[in-house]
Amino acid sequence: MVCPQCGKAMRPGFLQGGRTLVFNQKQYRVSIAPRKEGDVEIVWNLAADADFHGFICTDCGLVVFDYEHPMDRWL
Ligand SMILES: [Zn+2]
Repeated sequence: MVCPQCGKAMRPGFLQGGRTLVFNQKQYRVSIAPRKEGDVEIVWNLAADADFHGFICTDCGLVVFDYEHPMDRWL
């Protein structure tokens, strides 16, 4: 995959993280829970961590991943 930001080659891999990850339109200081329409719960699963297949550009720092299709860590 070509990086949409800098045009260099991105490397495939897995974005592995914790049990909550949110994309909010505003930076909240206390709780990251989505509050407004348009805020997106990427991961909100207190029982297990989530993994995503994606691509990283180590030249500019951009990471691209499909948040609607998390992977099962125990396959
Ligand atoms: Zn890049």
